[in-house]
Amino acid sequence: MNEHGNMNATEIQIDDLQFVRYITAENIDRKINEIARKLRDDLSDKYPMFLVVMNGAFIFAADLMRKLDFPCELNFVRIKSYQGTQSTGNVDIFMPPDIQLRDRYIVIVEDIIDTGLTITSFRKYLQNLHPADIRLTSILIKPEAHLHPVHTDYPGFSIPDLFVVGYGLDYNGKGRNLPDLYQLKA
Ligand code: 5GP
Repeated sequence: MNEHGNMNATEIQIDDLQFVRYITAENIDRKINEIARKLRDDLSDKYPMFLVVMNGAFIFAADLMRKLDFPCELNFVRIKSYQGTQSTGNVDIFMPPDIQLRDRYIVIVEDIIDTGLTITSFRKYLQNLHPADIRLTSILIKPEAHLHPVHTDYPGFSIPDLFVVGYGLDYNGKGRNLPDLYQLKA
């Protein structure tokens, strides 16, 4: 997938950029245990619907779901954002047509909250479908980059405003398969 070949290297190169290891798979796993415990405390009797935002959140979702020991459902959604000249931008939302969300407890599963545009738009869209509740979990949050106020109910790691890859997140389509998370080298 990239020139480094070694999936556990402390420094890697993907195309023109160099990255350093930032959060290990082991630490990510510990954090997901915490998130899973809180979800169980809050939602184990609510039969929640997890909506996983593709593509980046697929690994987080897979790890999280296997730690949940209560009945729940999962679906995938795709959200494409277009950052034009407007700071607000626009998004297109693609959801399976046959899922019923009325009166359901929804948990949005995200890889990273950056500007907050994606999640703010998606939340508004879901509100119109009259769910009982909408909550958010994201394995990564960049508070300094938020342009929209976003409350993450089940947060993972708060990180600085630097580009990251690995653990589902890509650069030029590459790096999603790295078990650890890497940060752009300063
Ligand atoms: P937002 O709408 O919050 O600005 O953007 C969220 C989306 O931008 C994420 O779901 C992710 O796809 C992408 N993104 C934001 N920051 C990063 C980053 O540091 N690395 C990668 N690979 N993607 C990012």
